Amino acid sequence: MKLLNTSHIKHAILLLAITIVTTLLISLPVLAAVSSTHWSYGGIENPTQWGKLSEDFALCELGRDQSPINIINTIEDSPAEIDFDYKPSPLVVVNNGHTIQVNYAQGSTVTINGKKYALLQFHFHTPSEHNINDKASPMELHLVHRNEAGQLAVVGVMLNQGIANPLIAEIWKQIPDIGATNTVSDRLINASNLLPSKKSYFSYMGSLTTPPCSEGVSWNLFLEPITVSKEQVEIFAKIYQVDARPLQPINDRTVQLHR
Ligand SMILES: [Zn+2]
Repeated sequence: MKLLNTSHIKHAILLLAITIVTTLLISLPVLAAVSSTHWSYGGIENPTQWGKLSEDFALCELGRDQSPINIINTIEDSPAEIDFDYKPSPLVVVNNGHTIQVNYAQGSTVTINGKKYALLQFHFHTPSEHNINDKASPMELHLVHRNEAGQLAVVGVMLNQGIANPLIAEIWKQIPDIGATNTVSDRLINASNLLPSKKSYFSYMGSLTTPPCSEGVSWNLFLEPITVSKEQVEIFAKIYQVDARPLQPINDRTVQLHR
């Protein structure tokens, strides 16, 4: 048996290093392209162009199960089976250049039809993305959840004009500059303060409403809205005048109503 001498080992390490660096150099621009393709709600990168901005966004143009939709014909299905187990979380507000998002601590879940999903974050759109019977609301809240299999479930809440929401007031006070995150670790919030009292909801299979417009998303939209004040809508609209994707064709999908 011939033992490797020091120069052999050095040579092998050098080869390995070159391989790793080369692999990184090849893969990095690809990864960067996935995460940094720019898109917006107006101008030349508006929603009608999303599918052309990147190969990764192809579903935005070609997908048949896209969101949002106008909820108009519904099938009365099983009774409401949606159970929230939301726990307090430190307030973490992200101004990501597309919306105001609140990242949520681990350990809060929703169970929909017996399937359990963990709450990751919630964020806001103005005007609402979904319509109910041809009618939009001033804003829409999306609570984004994921289960262990990686499937997404979004719970949507319409925000109509009325009495101010105290939790949203708290969040609006902590909005950082675009691209920044504000962690208010000494302030605990609970997303259950953003849910309506009646738990009737519409459900259908759709997509992310932002690029890459991935499908297979379980959508669950409450019939009952919560309220925000005119001033609360205006504070958001000062930062994001419009951050809503236009309505998408329903194609051959059905919307279930659970009461
Ligand atoms: Zn959303």
